[in-house]
Amino acid sequence: MSAPSTTPRSAVANSVWPRLEPLLPQIAKPIQYVGGELGAVVKDWDTAAVRWALMYPDAYEVGLPNQGVQILYEVLNEQPDVLAERTYAVWPDLERLMRAHQVPQFTIDAHRPVRDFDVFGVSFATELGYTNLLTAIDLAGIPLLAADRSDADPVVVAGGHAAFNPEPIATFVDAAVLGDGEEAVLEITTIVREWKAEGSPGGRDELLLRLARTESVYVPRFYDVDYLPDGRIQRVVPNRPDVPFRVHKRTTMDLDAWPYPKKPLVPLAETVHERYAVEIFRGCTRGCRFCQAGMITRPVRERSITTVGQMVREGLEFSGFHEVGLLSLSSADHSEIGDMCSGLAQQYEGTNVSLSLPSTRVDAFNIDLAQELARNGRRTGLTFAPEGGSERIRKVINKMVSKEDLIRTVVTAYTNGWRQVKLYFMCGLPTETDEDVLEIAAMAHEVIRAGRAATGSRDIRCTVSIGGFVPKPHTPFQWAAMARPEVIDNRLRLLKQAVNADRSLGRAIGFRYHDGEPSLIEGLLSRGDRRVGAVIRRVWENGGRFDGWSEHFSYQRWVEAAAEVLPDFGVDLDWYTTRERDELEVLPWDHLDSGLDKDWLWQDWQDALGEYEQDDCRWTPCFDCGVCPAMDTEIQIGPTGRKLLPLTPVNGLRVPSDAQQ
Ligand code: SF4
Repeated sequence: MSAPSTTPRSAVANSVWPRLEPLLPQIAKPIQYVGGELGAVVKDWDTAAVRWALMYPDAYEVGLPNQGVQILYEVLNEQPDVLAERTYAVWPDLERLMRAHQVPQFTIDAHRPVRDFDVFGVSFATELGYTNLLTAIDLAGIPLLAADRSDADPVVVAGGHAAFNPEPIATFVDAAVLGDGEEAVLEITTIVREWKAEGSPGGRDELLLRLARTESVYVPRFYDVDYLPDGRIQRVVPNRPDVPFRVHKRTTMDLDAWPYPKKPLVPLAETVHERYAVEIFRGCTRGCRFCQAGMITRPVRERSITTVGQMVREGLEFSGFHEVGLLSLSSADHSEIGDMCSGLAQQYEGTNVSLSLPSTRVDAFNIDLAQELARNGRRTGLTFAPEGGSERIRKVINKMVSKEDLIRTVVTAYTNGWRQVKLYFMCGLPTETDEDVLEIAAMAHEVIRAGRAATGSRDIRCTVSIGGFVPKPHTPFQWAAMARPEVIDNRLRLLKQAVNADRSLGRAIGFRYHDGEPSLIEGLLSRGDRRVGAVIRRVWENGGRFDGWSEHFSYQRWVEAAAEVLPDFGVDLDWYTTRERDELEVLPWDHLDSGLDKDWLWQDWQDALGEYEQDDCRWTPCFDCGVCPAMDTEIQIGPTGRKLLPLTPVNGLRVPSDAQQ
């Protein structure tokens, strides 16, 4: 492990390539460290006023397609005096060699040492990337603890959904940004640029103070946490007069003004997604109570049909991708999704471009859209997500789907030619019983039975996929107790038996699940406070890496680290995970403002326990969740009335006439 370093940052940021290249023949998949992809940018170091290293803390194959990093990379590099490069988590084989040969964490664009950059921005989609953050910081030669860093070290900034509770990593990061990043990175850049131009007055402390004063950058060192004797938090308060009591999330309005990525990165090595992805709207107000993404990205902001059409055309022309993903939290809910799908399907009919809509909505409209997108002969998989097995538990989680709706929808998919559908559920939900989960088996049996009857064929299948529920901050379930892993594993065992109890039906049903242990640790990291940082550090010191990968994750390592570290604080793993919180408990993230009103969240939690449902404010009156007034935002939905059609030929491609304007 590295010792705290005060050596000055290199003014020239020499490439580590000459030292890295000889190591590459000794490792798996060396291509992932080479860079130079289509869409990659290498700018002149000396003329850049502000330099960002951006990281997605997972391997290249997962990190490269990440939309958030791609967008920020492009937004920053469009600024004439700003340079942004990417870095990903290195696999343990390369980590060993880098340590042995003193090669620091590097960017893959120009192989510059991460420590030479001004800002090191890390985007977390999941908390299981925390140990990879520590590896990267340490390999970079940056002191692990923010308090030990000098002016020569970059400012380490966390972003992404996990940044809505960055307390478990509060001692390792200098700052965290909540919410949309497009404008936030430019604002941070402006502050860093001005501070450097002034000769870096006041050093690192002054820079962090300027960031904190924006009220949208959280600087943990400026806040003290006091605890009650029983281990709960008493209060979190600023420890200096000029920082805000609460830090607010950023919300980018008018997505049409931010049509990124315009130049998507085309991977050199195999990655989990190789497609051009367009976010067709941001936010979701369906109100699924387990869904942190839906809660923290409110309100709904649609990208217009014409901007989506133009982005698809230009993104494909640039990248040469053959697949387009129309992404959002619930893509079938875009107010002009029908026209969007038919317009794009017509535009690309007869080409080798396939279009996909990763919607999980349980209704026939979803199938209509998939049919439309399959016009060029390529059918993408259909996934429906009832999430809960019983009607009762679906009321608890606010997923308003009846069993009849689900069966009718899946049978419609079979009769329209799909032979395989995926059904997604969760296990471990609040108030859940064995019976709730066993209803998944009955539902799957009914789906196959009805599908066979409707199609007259036995050649139909469904896959039941089960994920573990993790209560997340800023959701109505933030107070909920988690089920113990053995309870989850037993339920899944019973479910599997029930699915296979009828061999004729069971044979047509695939079964995929995650066991309960990783979810419990994700729960610890999601709702943890600053004391959990010591557990993360211990796990990392004991070899924890790539905890999001089942082959690398060690439950035992986490349990042992928690048992070693937490008793000093009078708490334990159960205290963080299987304990239900009460209304008045100060939660570690209460000082971080997602816009959601805590009283509203509590009421929604009570409604969940009472099995009451909540409508979607897109189509019903505002139910005062707090976001719009708190953030001075509003729902932005169509229809715009504009069309992608009629089509006119341009450059041999048929494109929408209004896309040319
Ligand atoms: S404040 Fe009202 S309109 Fe805005 S997201 Fe919440 S419920 Fe919907």
